[in-house]
Amino acid sequence: MRFDRLKLNGFKSFVDPTDLLIREGLTGVVGPNGCGKSNLLEALRWIMGENRPTAMRGAGMEDVIFAGTSRRSARGHAEVTLTLDNRDRLAPAGFNEEDQIDIVRRITRDAGSAYKINGKDVRARDVQMLFADASTGAHSPALVRQGQISELINAKPKNRRRILEEAAGISGLYQRRHEAELK
Ligand code: ATP
Ligand code: MG
Repeated sequence: MRFDRLKLNGFKSFVDPTDLLIREGLTGVVGPNGCGKSNLLEALRWIMGENRPTAMRGAGMEDVIFAGTSRRSARGHAEVTLTLDNRDRLAPAGFNEEDQIDIVRRITRDAGSAYKINGKDVRARDVQMLFADASTGAHSPALVRQGQISELINAKPKNRRRILEEAAGISGLYQRRHEAELK
């Protein structure tokens, strides 16, 4: 299972529809300061179910919607689509019937986020679980934020264990156990 394509529409500075093919191997994103490199990585986190506005450098989640400039008016919604290539059939059970998995997250001002997987309405949790079971996701150690290495070194043992569990791909199980204990 691999990331194949990322589409943005109205997300942060990407006001016009933007379609990025993610080729196999290493991808570098280069460009001048403020051109949107970090916004792109935030779009990846966001589509994987990130729900902390601070992780998107915002005060509220609506801050990911294009806020307008002197020449262009603000948008009422933002949408990100991530296409996964699942020809290797490595997607977790329940998502593993198709060659291609399309995940869409859309946020509308005052109405919050809605998610779809292959056209079907799903919950944020379903998207988070898909990625948690695939050993990636919004909180995955595969995405390394600035300052995160020193956080890992200085982390308390319990927090460090959580990071290792995510890396080992068992955080989905951990979350399900936690939910089962609450029931
Ligand atoms: P650097 O090289 O400095 O790290 P960068 O390429 O990572 O820059 P970003 O931080 O991704 O740049 O992009 C910042 C730009 O995105 C700023 O110009 C900011 O105004 C714009 N931006 C962020 N959120 C929004 C929004 N909701 N609406 C419109 N523009 C936005
Ligand atoms: Mg940046």
